[in-house]
Amino acid sequence: MQIDNDKKTNRSGLAERDQAVIWHPFTQMQTAPPPIPIVRGEGTLLYTEDGNAYIDAVSSWWVNIHGHSHPYIAEKVFQQFQTLEHVIFAGFTHQPAVQLAERLLPLLPTNQQKVFYSDNGSTAVEVALKMAFQYWHNLGKPRRKVIALDGAYHGDTFGAMAVSGRSAFTAPFVPFLFDVEYIPAPVPGQEQVALERLQALLSDDVAAFIVEPLVQGSGGMVMYQPAILDELMGLARRCGALVIADEVMTGFGRTGKLFASYHLREQPDLICLSKGLTGGTMALGVTTCTKEIYDAFRSDDKFKTLFHGHSFTANPLACTAALASLDLLLSDETQAAIQRIGQRHAVFAEQLKQKPGARNVRRQGTILAFDLDAGDASRSYFNTIRDQAYEFLLEQGVLMRPLGNVLYILPPYCITDEQLDTVYAAIENLLKHLRE
Ligand SMILES: *Cc1c(COP(=O)(O)O)cnc(C)c1O
Repeated sequence: MQIDNDKKTNRSGLAERDQAVIWHPFTQMQTAPPPIPIVRGEGTLLYTEDGNAYIDAVSSWWVNIHGHSHPYIAEKVFQQFQTLEHVIFAGFTHQPAVQLAERLLPLLPTNQQKVFYSDNGSTAVEVALKMAFQYWHNLGKPRRKVIALDGAYHGDTFGAMAVSGRSAFTAPFVPFLFDVEYIPAPVPGQEQVALERLQALLSDDVAAFIVEPLVQGSGGMVMYQPAILDELMGLARRCGALVIADEVMTGFGRTGKLFASYHLREQPDLICLSKGLTGGTMALGVTTCTKEIYDAFRSDDKFKTLFHGHSFTANPLACTAALASLDLLLSDETQAAIQRIGQRHAVFAEQLKQKPGARNVRRQGTILAFDLDAGDASRSYFNTIRDQAYEFLLEQGVLMRPLGNVLYILPPYCITDEQLDTVYAAIENLLKHLRE
């Protein structure tokens, strides 16, 4: 699967046309190489105009779980489009939205009773935060504080940014973000510190405690154990704080179980879902909550209404894609694939641990991550290593996007053993290359 460089020199000139009119996400447009035109996706593969293929080892930003252009999802969405493509969701409802909520709730922790639809992961978090703050407001006991984990990522809109860790990404906006208290991520060795810090911060002014359960994605695939999260959640809930589980990335099989919450004894009060929800095919977000939270908004008093909604709330096409994705996800075949990927990762992780260039090898379900060892080089050197690794892996036909010096595999579940071998070999080649 060796690809030479001219695959990026796009025949149609699409990259140049793109550069003339488009501003890309998380991209320094001055220095970034031109984007690579993709004309087709099938399974784990993304094809360029020349018919070369990349293995999508990051599931196109963690969304894709069944492979690209899946014919089953495509067929269902096509059928739905011919019947009802969209309808206002205030005062009206439709089959796909009701059916999706009916199928989703029984899969979530038993205390989750209501589904609120939005458009993406950030909006799912915004809705959860607004539900949490207004819950206390409606009860007449307003609470103002949120506790989050260091290095958290909950999205790019303002509320979601506020509860994320402070970093170079949030720096220009810090004056506009509401204050949040942080505790250390309870990674192995830090459990006690995290617990003590949470204990010290909890008060009757804390509205919510928000976490990415078990894996902090954008923060660098930081992983921690269910037992300590159970302790933290239990403590927060005993002090009355609502627990928000942001399962936007960890949901739908990523951690080896259907949801990260399946690894836990404690149940969150609110859950945020997106990314894999539609199999990664369409934009859709879901926030679920307990009956207790929902009941705090039911009133003869109109001011207790949750005044939130988006034009495309519960879009029927997106809900249909989510229903089709659920069919595929719950099949024996996909469940076996999730286990198979986890087992393959486990074996490769042991090999990686022997290699001098890889540090802090960790895995959870279908996610394998490690730190590229940059010696005691500076942060800017990390960035160099990141760009070098990204380019090198692309040249090997593998799409991975290191987070700083953190390299990770987070593949669609349909990835074959052979494709996994190609990804593992590319990583081994990279480690060799970086030591030369
Ligand atoms: C990606 C992500 C979000 C934001 O989702 P978008 O759809 O990109 O807005 C929120 N929380 C977590 C944990 C994520 O990984």
